[in-house]
Amino acid sequence: MSNRRKFLQFSLLGGMGLLARKTGFARSEETFPTITGKPVVISTWDAGLAANKGAWEVLGKGGRALDAVEKGVNVTEASQNCCVGLGANPDRDGFVTLDACIMDEFANCGSVAFLERIKHPVSVARRVMEKTPHVMLVGSGAQQFAVAEGFPLEEQKLSPEAQAAYSNWLKNSTYHPPAINVENKANHDHGPFAPYKLENGEWNHDTIGMVAMDTFGNLSGSCTTSGAGFKMRGRLGDSPIIGAGLFVDNEVGACTATGQGEDVIRIAGSHTVVELMRQGLSPEAACKKAIERVARKVKPERVKEIQVAFLAINKKGKVGAWALHPGFSYAIKSNDREEMVTSGSMFNS
Ligand code: ASP
Repeated sequence: MSNRRKFLQFSLLGGMGLLARKTGFARSEETFPTITGKPVVISTWDAGLAANKGAWEVLGKGGRALDAVEKGVNVTEASQNCCVGLGANPDRDGFVTLDACIMDEFANCGSVAFLERIKHPVSVARRVMEKTPHVMLVGSGAQQFAVAEGFPLEEQKLSPEAQAAYSNWLKNSTYHPPAINVENKANHDHGPFAPYKLENGEWNHDTIGMVAMDTFGNLSGSCTTSGAGFKMRGRLGDSPIIGAGLFVDNEVGACTATGQGEDVIRIAGSHTVVELMRQGLSPEAACKKAIERVARKVKPERVKEIQVAFLAINKKGKVGAWALHPGFSYAIKSNDREEMVTSGSMFNS
């Protein structure tokens, strides 16, 4: 997780953005240049670099953005990442449950949630989109569909890293759900839960969200996660919800979200960003406005406890991101760029 904070590469301008935040200046919204030339793919957090490479195997050959965003995040799902795929941290009962969705340029979309023992939830989401009249399948029904579609049922076993993290978590079984917005709603109502903000100040979040534009100028997106580590059994965040964790409108742009899912859902986050771009805002300005809306909906004392970030692309291939707090970065790959970029944020810490 801490690797996400170690940005592998900075563009000169990205570095300047960080400097600006440290010195208290807001970063100009035009800091990052328009990407000229398709294709382009962007994805959340450090794992995005490898995922973008996977996507590029499709995009670089002139392939379709939909195929690219599936193949790209498959890379992360297959890695033993703490927060994506079967190597991820379990829920508080010790089971890994996965959420994913995918959306194409025709507004076709598919989603799975609370899915267990399947290695590539995003690919199951694509099958839901392509082979059923529905958008979303959950739990045992999603698993049954996956098996019927030929996806192998993997062993129910935690990775060594997840087992160690779970054993450690069980020592205190801490419950601090910062998303609860209702006065006097006792945090312990629902039993133990993991804090989103770790004691070392890092955010206990990870998800891979990816959006891409292909050589035809068409947009698609995908999002896949294990959600919050040690979550309540059955909890879903924003990631599998079309309009919250992901939204694509091929006339306008595409957006994906990461961070505190409950607060992304509250404002229909990714859809909001796309609608703001429709009104003429740049991707970064749209992400920023949506983040401000998240902050307005959360009690001031809770806003320090959560992280939310949006990452967007518009129809011109211009990309942008914004987060509540520093520490969010995204990976970009185009014909002439392959690097991590540091997002600006609403707060300085
Ligand atoms: N958005 C994800 C969720 O709430 C978690 C994350 O991005 O870290 O499930």
